[in-house]
Amino acid sequence: MVEQKQRSEAVRVVVRCRPLNSKERFEDRTTSLKIDQAGCQISLPGGSQTDTALSKVFTFDSVFGPDCGQEDLFRSTAEPIVEAVLQGFNGTIFTYGQTGAGKTFTMEGDSIAGPDRGIVPRCFEQIFDSIKHSENQEFLVRVSFLELYNEELRDLLARNVKGKLQLREKSSGDVYIKGLHTFVVNSIDDISRVLQVGKKSRTVGKTLMNEDSSRSHSIFTLTVEGMTPKNDKDAGHIHVGTLNLVDLAGSERQSKSGTTGDRFKEATNINLSLSALGNVISALSDGRDGHVPYRESKLTRLLQSSLGGNTKTVMIATVGPADYNMEETLSTLRYASRAKNIQNKPKINEDPKDAVLRDYQEQIARLKAQLEEA
Ligand code: ADP
Ligand code: MG
Repeated sequence: MVEQKQRSEAVRVVVRCRPLNSKERFEDRTTSLKIDQAGCQISLPGGSQTDTALSKVFTFDSVFGPDCGQEDLFRSTAEPIVEAVLQGFNGTIFTYGQTGAGKTFTMEGDSIAGPDRGIVPRCFEQIFDSIKHSENQEFLVRVSFLELYNEELRDLLARNVKGKLQLREKSSGDVYIKGLHTFVVNSIDDISRVLQVGKKSRTVGKTLMNEDSSRSHSIFTLTVEGMTPKNDKDAGHIHVGTLNLVDLAGSERQSKSGTTGDRFKEATNINLSLSALGNVISALSDGRDGHVPYRESKLTRLLQSSLGGNTKTVMIATVGPADYNMEETLSTLRYASRAKNIQNKPKINEDPKDAVLRDYQEQIARLKAQLEEA
């Protein structure tokens, strides 16, 4: 096994601005957001719209304008992360922004197979394509899909959508979810089934429990186990990479007026996860070795290793271009700016105790032997 040098690596933060939609075009909405894709900058007017001295300029690792297609976005954000996951690193890609800014479009896309398919199906394609081309190396890919609503975790791939899941902690301090279903997937075709089941579960939750889907966070997780080829000096070692694809709840501030009972509980709880995320980002971006409040919410516990941990993380902040969204856009850009300061220490996960590839291989070998005997 190779001795790993753990280098610090900042969380990569990119911004994507969607085009004006047809309603906004019909209403002749103005946009004074300026995007300099080559210079990785996005600026908003400050004070009067013509006063450039007061404008607020933000610089990110990349800035994508309304003309940026799904493939280009994938190549520059997710592709390097998937590459690393195949080598045994953990990766997280999450979208943040107000409702309607393009989080789900970016993550899932408009369809599973068309040119506007998003990051999730494209990650699958890249993984299975790589597996096809890597000779002598055995791989095992598993998926799970969950939703966090009102601080309650729900398994989107379980039969019983209403069942609630519990967060648990291993002795190592790593967080896991008890009873979460994980499925082995063998090909790109499996993705459409998994996504359809997940989508259906979300709709069921929405109607059965009268929920507002813009207030839920969804986490799609892919675990890739790979075994070093037989002819390699490290033959038989297993490396495991986990990829989290996270579509966060809408970041808009929720009005507290008129919210009572369950609705109020819901609003405060949804705020709890997102504001806890904000607190974690603030604590980490201060760069001091102080306390990081991961335990404030389930979301921050689930994303603990992605923020300040051993994961390669990309944050995609999505914004709308129209001026009536300017306040929310500014708040998203400020939030994203803080995240740029977070340092992670990614490392390859080698031979973890919970790897299942070896068990699978042993089972297959046993079955083969039985068949030959029969
Ligand atoms: P969110 O998940 O942030 O609430 P959505 O992803 O559902 O927002 O986007 C709202 C609408 O805008 C959808 O109809 C989506 O197809 C469209 N949209 C979002 N981003 C883009 C984009 N970059 N290009 C084209 N259409 C987009
Ligand atoms: Mg959405």
